[in-house]
Amino acid sequence: MDAMEKRRALALIAKQVSACTDCGLCRGRTNAVPGEGNADADIMFIGEGPGFYEDRQGRPFVGASGKFLDELLVSIGLDRKQVFIGNVVKCRPPNNRDPQPEEIAACKKYLDAQVETIAPKVIVTLGRHSMQRYFPGESISRVHGQPRRKDSQLVVPMYHPAAALHQASLRQVIEADFRRLPEFLQKTLNGGVPAVAPPERVPAHLQAKPAPAPRPAEATAAEAEPQQMRLL
Ligand code: URA
Ligand code: SF4
Repeated sequence: MDAMEKRRALALIAKQVSACTDCGLCRGRTNAVPGEGNADADIMFIGEGPGFYEDRQGRPFVGASGKFLDELLVSIGLDRKQVFIGNVVKCRPPNNRDPQPEEIAACKKYLDAQVETIAPKVIVTLGRHSMQRYFPGESISRVHGQPRRKDSQLVVPMYHPAAALHQASLRQVIEADFRRLPEFLQKTLNGGVPAVAPPERVPAHLQAKPAPAPRPAEATAAEAEPQQMRLL
């Protein structure tokens, strides 16, 4: 699909989402939040679900965690128009409660269609619920920041920006995980697999507190001088 076909396909998905009544969350919504950004993005972010401001505006990540996400994007030379930002559920759970498994299941078809249409090189999951989509049963504290190949995509699980806002120590963790994204994308564009040990190669007795991933010399140099990423 070329970029224009992708835009059309995403618009169609957004239209279906806006009219959807396939789970109970439709009852509480002001606006559905289908997601937004570059239809032809190399990087796609998947959050949890709309909060208060997202529900009001029909746009993803426009509240406090959205502001932080914007800052994280700027820190690696990107803005939100270059990436695509979506969620596992498109309608706001009441009082921002966790989305329930049956709601995530009912909404999965839309996220599947978005991922298939955009076909990003790298998918970043934000928080536990989108992580579960790719790494069921994993613990975020153990796998955050470690890319893994899933079909034709590289998936990088990260903490949710809201968690980082509530817990100062996590802020540095998510910032550090973000800083490695350009390197992961570059390696993926070059057809390589990033040099990060997959968790299954970490000895069991180290898994609770994994050693820092081995880092190639050029990665350190690239980090010292962050480079603008080339996005298609
Ligand atoms: N948190 C999310 O997970 N998604 C949003 O769109 C906003 C906040
Ligand atoms: Fe439909 Fe998803 Fe909204 Fe549920 S959350 S009503 S499945 S769009």
